[in-house]
Amino acid sequence: MKKVTNPIRTARVQKAADENYRVKTLEMDCDLPQALPGQFLMVWVPGAGEKPMSIGNSNPLTISVAKVGKVSGELHALKAGGMVSFRGPFGKPFNIPERAKRILVIGGGYGVVPMYFLAKVARENGIAPLAVIGARTAKDIVWEKQLFTVCKEVFVTTDDGTRGKKGNVLAEAQWLIEGKKIDAVYACGPERMMEAVAQLCVAHKIPCEVSVERYMKCGVGVCGSCAIDGKLCCVDGPVFSAEEALSFAEFGKSRRDASGRKC
Ligand SMILES: Cc1cc2nc3c(=O)[nH]c(=O)nc-3n(C[C@H](O)[C@H](O)[C@H](O)COP(=O)(O)OP(=O)(O)OC[C@H]3O[C@@H](n4cnc5c(N)ncnc54)[C@H](O)[C@@H]3O)c2cc1C
Repeated sequence: MKKVTNPIRTARVQKAADENYRVKTLEMDCDLPQALPGQFLMVWVPGAGEKPMSIGNSNPLTISVAKVGKVSGELHALKAGGMVSFRGPFGKPFNIPERAKRILVIGGGYGVVPMYFLAKVARENGIAPLAVIGARTAKDIVWEKQLFTVCKEVFVTTDDGTRGKKGNVLAEAQWLIEGKKIDAVYACGPERMMEAVAQLCVAHKIPCEVSVERYMKCGVGVCGSCAIDGKLCCVDGPVFSAEEALSFAEFGKSRRDASGRKC
């Protein structure tokens, strides 16, 4: 009989915590030791659908959900004791260069979540992570406290200046890249932000990877929903090198919504 390589698993939520008015973190009662930073789960809510969610921690398995629609709304309503079904981990993870001593992680919105997982694993391997996190307002910041536990320094920016430096992450990223010896940069968040970070790193010849989000259905390279310039975000990504992401005509410019329309 053929072995099922990625069976659906079900875990119990052991902790459900509001990060802010929109984002909730769900900590499961299990670990996922094979998960690597940058990978995602396909999280299934019976009757609502299945959606990719970044892994925020593998030990215990943790995700953070921004409430925007059907599946995220159902996940958001979960409390401790509720059940979550998922497949995975899927996708290509982030790569840390072999001799890296200091890395910079940059997160915008809930893009901070996989950056924590990467920073944590880097720290466990003797690498010093620095972090820049950005949000629209102070109320939109997530996972700042978690990042402080694993990063040497954390710099915060908000668009309206209600917390940290006023502005976006780019200025902070630029002075860190120019002023400190950074061996690699990683970004996850709004695509225009990642595009600017990728351009900055290419200009400074610093290895950089970004995590690209596209509308996904199967998560395993079969349906083609997450195609981006001939690549499939679910199996060729979601992590791409800065150079590869910048070569995608639609990166930072457009994407398809659930109906398949470009937006
Ligand atoms: C690799 C990856 C990692 C992700 N990680 C996280 C995470 O950690 N936390 C999190 O909250 N979300 C994450 N997402 C987004 C998540 O998978 C869903 O897209 C989101 O939760 C909306 O699903 P929904 O069923 O609630 O909304 P729906 O009811 O499907 O849609 C609500 C609205 O949002 C639009 N929409 C939904 N998803 C997309 C999309 N991907 N691109 C463009 N338009 C879209 C729909 O067209 C609709 O207008 C990730 C996506 C990817 C590809």
